[in-house]
Amino acid sequence: MTQVNQVEVTPNDKVNLLDFDRQGLREFFAGIGEKPYRADQVMKWIYHRLEDNFENMTDVGKVLRAKLEATCYVGPPKTMFDKGAADGTHKWLLGMDGGNAVEAVYIPEPTRGTLCVSSQVGCGLNCQFCSTATQGFNRNLATSEIIGQMWVAAKHLGNITHQNRRITNVVMMGMGEPLLNFDNVVKAMSLMRDDFGFGLASKRVTLSTAGLVPMIDKLSEAIDVSLAVSLHAANDELRTELVPLNKRYPIAELVASCQRWLARKPRTSITFEYTLMKGVNDQPEHARQLIKLMRRLPNCKVNLIPFNPFPGTRFERSDVEVIRAFQTQLLNAGILTMLRRTRGDDIDAACGQLKGQVLDRTRRQAEFRKRLDEDSAHAA
Ligand code: SAH
Repeated sequence: MTQVNQVEVTPNDKVNLLDFDRQGLREFFAGIGEKPYRADQVMKWIYHRLEDNFENMTDVGKVLRAKLEATCYVGPPKTMFDKGAADGTHKWLLGMDGGNAVEAVYIPEPTRGTLCVSSQVGCGLNCQFCSTATQGFNRNLATSEIIGQMWVAAKHLGNITHQNRRITNVVMMGMGEPLLNFDNVVKAMSLMRDDFGFGLASKRVTLSTAGLVPMIDKLSEAIDVSLAVSLHAANDELRTELVPLNKRYPIAELVASCQRWLARKPRTSITFEYTLMKGVNDQPEHARQLIKLMRRLPNCKVNLIPFNPFPGTRFERSDVEVIRAFQTQLLNAGILTMLRRTRGDDIDAACGQLKGQVLDRTRRQAEFRKRLDEDSAHAA
């Protein structure tokens, strides 16, 4: 959890339209006596034109505008601060209620722009190598707070849906375990996919999970998106150490659920993320175990992520030659293996570094104030 020195005032009596997917928005409109196409019209204003002021929705009649004004609002999260890295990566710290904040990160590449979105404030899974875990779990994000990250980034970047796409891909790889906030995440992803929303194809919206087996099955029935699984080790002993959730859902069960996913969605692939930590999971025997596992999942990919350090961690990034050797071993075995380039590490925006800086700043401010108080006590 990140503490922010600000009290959020939300219009509690009004409904935030960012909490609705298309179906929900139509139902809300029906509730105020309006036709479904009116909901679609407003939805396009919100997600295509990034308009949050009903006044500016010029093709919406005056009477309806007044009705909307009285009953609802378009409430994206507030930007506490944002920062650009030398490589074009951009990070937003977004304030939620109760002094919480989460981070979203934009990663531009020559042929695409990827937005990394958070699903929870903090995380309860306690993966040993992840900075978010050190904060513990605070709460699930609302749909409006998830899709709102994309709305804020899109507005900042000048994204125009169906015309000038700056955000071509979304990955639910920010803070939190998305499958533990299932309903809100699915609703937000349906807004990412919806033609009246951000209109992204299914292969461009990816949910990443640490491996909540029953929820992977549920997801395959709920919505058409891409799946990434954070593996990090292909033997149970090591994986349980790194990802404690593995105790509950061991590798055999995880692989079986991935096989069911592939059976339900032929022609799709699953990406397996593997964070390389020096001397922990980066040896030839680990690659051999991974190859054996991947043989059971035809056409799936491995995404190698060099470990990104954070203060207080006991892990180190594997050496470049070791990473290359690991990748080569997999490639030679015919496994499609990509190496994720580390981006935005000068602003702590890389994988596993998302935490937010305000907590420290608040602490510093608290210390500063304490010292001030002490000083003035001395002076008195
Ligand atoms: N809970 C989800 C999504 C958040 S983690 C999941 O586990 O997939 C997103 C990705 O970042 C995961 O693959 C995770 O393992 C990786 N990651 C976490 N900490 C990291 C670190 N310090 N360095 C590199 N990658 C890390």
